[in-house]
Amino acid sequence: MRRAIIFFALISVILFIKQTAFALDQQTHAAINEIVALGNFNNFSLNSYLTNNLGIEQGTDASFNGEKIHLLISLGGAYEDDRPLPYLRSLNHFHDPTKQLDQAGLDTYWRGLLLPVHLTGTSSILWALSKDIQNNTSFIGIPAGNYSWPATRDYFYNALIATDEYTRTENFVKCFTGIGQLMHLVEDASVPLHTRNEAHIGNWNYETWVAETRNSTVVNNILNGTPVIPYSTVLAQQGNTDPRIGGLPVSRLFDTGKFVANGGHQDPGATTGADIGLAEFTNANFFSERTGNQNNKYDYPSNAVLNKFSEQINDPRGSGIITRFYYGKAGDGVTVPHLAARTYFDYEYDRYNHWQDYNNGPIFLDETCYKDYATLLLPRAEGYAFSLMQYFFRGQMDAVDAKAVTTNGKIRRVCQT
Ligand SMILES: [Zn+2]
Ligand SMILES: [Zn+2]
Repeated sequence: MRRAIIFFALISVILFIKQTAFALDQQTHAAINEIVALGNFNNFSLNSYLTNNLGIEQGTDASFNGEKIHLLISLGGAYEDDRPLPYLRSLNHFHDPTKQLDQAGLDTYWRGLLLPVHLTGTSSILWALSKDIQNNTSFIGIPAGNYSWPATRDYFYNALIATDEYTRTENFVKCFTGIGQLMHLVEDASVPLHTRNEAHIGNWNYETWVAETRNSTVVNNILNGTPVIPYSTVLAQQGNTDPRIGGLPVSRLFDTGKFVANGGHQDPGATTGADIGLAEFTNANFFSERTGNQNNKYDYPSNAVLNKFSEQINDPRGSGIITRFYYGKAGDGVTVPHLAARTYFDYEYDRYNHWQDYNNGPIFLDETCYKDYATLLLPRAEGYAFSLMQYFFRGQMDAVDAKAVTTNGKIRRVCQT
């Protein structure tokens, strides 16, 4: 009986976690991936690459197993969170750049049930770049396939050298899906929750706001605006030297190590440009719902650069106008006009000059804050995901000592002479 109850409880938790997935909503990932797959930035478009370098004439509209290439990449964005049950890949979608690699993954308690549930995962950098971690099937449902960088490179290679159509198709499907899944991991580094070790199951947060407003003019304009592409210097240097990563430069799209120098000193001023890892930018400059300035979990954003102001907003409970109090951030990194909203309680304390005693006002994040966050974070989610895709296809195909196998004048594959 007891076993049955535990089993039932476990299944309920898994179902609940699945429904309230831990990431930028799956459809948001799919939408960003679609824009990236069809984009033309930084002198690169996947469409031209496929046509000119791989001889795939229809480019991103070419189909494998009945699915167009740009849709496979888009689907990969959703699959990284959601494939057949039970499915917990998203526990590995966190990276906290203020911690050592082995501690940088999710490690927190979720208190949504009677007893706290300890949630842990590996850093998303290791999840994305280690060859073997995704092969580990010791935990329920993980991993549902290996779509790490090395595995996805192998699918690409196997597709190119395949001598039969079935193998070629199967590997191209896995390759493009895998690129979409890797892009998902980069995009999650644009979410404060994912860089500040905060589980978010079932509560209203930045991700749910983006999902609900994705088709609004505001968010649509951001998504279809100019992405922030990381400088080429980010991928021109050796990445994390941990043996499981082996210096792959892609680790620097997440974390360059510039924000937290050796010795632990944090420099948020180093995070403003596009020469920084996305997780560093996000961690240093934004709050997450439960990592505001009152609990000292993180040094930045610090109280020292917060300014207080009030603003008239539409009453979220209905009609009319109300006054809301905010913190803005100017300094220690990028400017965030509405970093957090202040409670009325906090405001009253301040009004009666208790601020000195009470330098830790509780905060919350409202729609005005989320809009500022999305304006600064979504263009980077796109730009960094684009950079990953461009880097994946960076090599020109080496045609020396190779011969093209053609059918009806079309290149079907390349093999050694
Ligand atoms: Zn995710
Ligand atoms: Zn999430």
